[in-house]
Amino acid sequence: MFIHTVRSRIANIHLLESGSGVVIVDAGFGNAAPLVLRTLDQLGYSPRDVRLIFLTHAHIDHVGSAAELRRLTGAPISLHRADVAKARAGKHNMPTGRGASGKILEHAFNGLRLKFRYEAFEPDVLFDDGQTLCEFGLDARVVHTPGHTLGSLSLVLEHGAMVIGDAVINQIRVGMPLYGEAPALAYDSARKILGMRPRILYSGHGEAFAGDALARYFELKGLTTTVSGAN
Ligand SMILES: [Zn+2]
Ligand SMILES: [Zn+2]
Repeated sequence: MFIHTVRSRIANIHLLESGSGVVIVDAGFGNAAPLVLRTLDQLGYSPRDVRLIFLTHAHIDHVGSAAELRRLTGAPISLHRADVAKARAGKHNMPTGRGASGKILEHAFNGLRLKFRYEAFEPDVLFDDGQTLCEFGLDARVVHTPGHTLGSLSLVLEHGAMVIGDAVINQIRVGMPLYGEAPALAYDSARKILGMRPRILYSGHGEAFAGDALARYFELKGLTTTVSGAN
């Protein structure tokens, strides 16, 4: 299995190559489809080799080109049920800001009444914790990592690799995103990821980073690594 990262503006799209095709993880903003198809072509794949468009969550920078990519590849789109309402509406509000800078930005966006709009779509497949992607040709397990959105999903891959969407990001440094629907859950999800002892983490934002970097973030912030919730 190979992981190829496509950098689409600020957000990452990951192409997971298995022996039997490609799973696209996240779909970038609304104009990312040509870049994805070009990259597939460079890797020797036709659009028909795409088995699944797996969305980590329904924010505009991750699903903006989902509907377009489905049209171009014929592959089904998957999502967690808790994010389906956003996908159907084709929009989401500014999530709650975390910390001082998050709050300032939240107020600024709300003041502008900015709506985060994208082409609405109905997912074809719904995933939840513990399911696998075997039927789509990929040795991967789905992990529910809610907080950033309630439906945020991650994937456990071979050899200690994980794709984690915006559960933890690496913009400037490894840390929690500034926005989240349920910030307390987001920390538990980061702990859950840490508890899986990943070797390498592929985030929705920034370069991939080592599992140790997430452990160091917890240490630096003086955060406990014990998961408080039931899951
Ligand atoms: Zn997001
Ligand atoms: Zn994002």
